[in-house]
Amino acid sequence: MKNKYELVVVGGGFAGTAAAISAAKQGVDVLLIEKYNCLGGAAANALVMPFMPYWTNVPDTKERKYLCGNLFLEIVEEMNKISGVGKSMSTFDEEILKIVLNRMVVKYGVKLLFNSSVIEAKKDNGKITSVLVYGKSGTMGFFADTFIDATGDAELCALAGCEYSLGREIDNLCQPMTLCFRLGNVNKEKCWKNHGMINSLYNEFKEKGLIKNPRENVLMFDNVNEGIIHINSTRIVRRNPTDPFDVTQAELEAREQVFELNKFLTENIPGFENARVISTGMHIGIRESRKVVGEYVLTEEDLLSLARFDDAIATANYSIDIHNPEGTGTRWHEFNPGEWYEIPYRCLIPKGMRNLLVAGRCISSTHEAQSSYRIMPFCCELGQAAGTAVVVAKENKTDVRDADVKKIQNKLRSEGFAL
Ligand SMILES: Cc1cc2nc3c(=O)[nH]c(=O)nc-3n(C[C@H](O)[C@H](O)[C@H](O)COP(=O)(O)OP(=O)(O)OC[C@H]3O[C@@H](n4cnc5c(N)ncnc54)[C@H](O)[C@@H]3O)c2cc1C
Repeated sequence: MKNKYELVVVGGGFAGTAAAISAAKQGVDVLLIEKYNCLGGAAANALVMPFMPYWTNVPDTKERKYLCGNLFLEIVEEMNKISGVGKSMSTFDEEILKIVLNRMVVKYGVKLLFNSSVIEAKKDNGKITSVLVYGKSGTMGFFADTFIDATGDAELCALAGCEYSLGREIDNLCQPMTLCFRLGNVNKEKCWKNHGMINSLYNEFKEKGLIKNPRENVLMFDNVNEGIIHINSTRIVRRNPTDPFDVTQAELEAREQVFELNKFLTENIPGFENARVISTGMHIGIRESRKVVGEYVLTEEDLLSLARFDDAIATANYSIDIHNPEGTGTRWHEFNPGEWYEIPYRCLIPKGMRNLLVAGRCISSTHEAQSSYRIMPFCCELGQAAGTAVVVAKENKTDVRDADVKKIQNKLRSEGFAL
């Protein structure tokens, strides 16, 4: 078994898969390690859908300016070829996503290791030297010149003893966890016609104590498949997503909420009369957990001032979207057409580390800033940026923390980044 690679990426969500593909495509020898049996991360394992918007409408025109980089667009295009995305290019079929990502990593020569978790990291002088992985044959060690933490939970960084923050600054509470689910046997035409009555009735039921879920509304999306509706409306608050007993409790409570919502919809909303729960996420969806403390911490002020940075490596504009970590309500700030902010390379570098980058929802930021760039298209973009930084470091024979940022930016611009 080969145990030394130029790059080890931990986590096969959008961020990790994009990092692995972009590095491998440009000649880096990559191992991608994923805990489960497929790529796609939250989309695959927690049934998260749809893609939130990854463009800005150019004012006074009908044009869209994409902010996500070409790799995400390529993934959507590949899914579209096999009917994996809806007309809006936002709803999608996660089974098509999984096969598309498998084919892409194989095509670009990424070595894949599924059903295996990184459980330990050895660190020396600001560098990770190796990681220990637990899989079917017990434990295995892997060495690499560079590592990328794309675990969503900054798990590799935590194992390596890097500094991190959890949730919001005042009390460490994270955004709520949500178990997404699908209802089958739905008469979609009828249910969308009656959509307007759902939330007022739902809140009446809540006031009468007939619904315990703290969420303020029922958020549902169409699914690309006939008769199926996607529901993202369970809400588990005040639980720590990095504490396994808290997560277990969250899974129990959320499953009760799934059936509470199912009962409410089938008994009260035309179109849902014959609906049945046909699937739930393999694990509860985690919006926010650890965020690494990096060489720069992105803040809400940066987002609101549409910050520009000399070392920008990504752009984003999804709303500041904070589901109340304590109960009911959602805080929301939407960016205007033509507005976006930049994310600096320093947010991908854990403080003091020389050969480790972080990508995806756990980069260095505050609770408020994370609520915006955390969506799948921008996690993919952050992964692509991290993979490209590894290519530049390899070309110039430097540690990844010292990678030539101008060179990274030029490569990313040629890959459609709006820098
Ligand atoms: C309920 C919910 C609703 C959301 N709604 C939307 C939405 O509508 N649209 C949108 O665009 N975004 C949405 N998001 C946000 C988005 O899904 C995530 O922020 C994004 O997918 C994160 O991508 P990632 O690659 O950073 O991490 P993840 O997708 O979490 O991927 C991390 C991967 O790392 C693996 N991993 C973790 N630890 C280890 C380890 N130790 N060893 C090996 N592998 C490991 C995991 O199995 C996982 O596959 C939502 C999120 C949630 C939870």
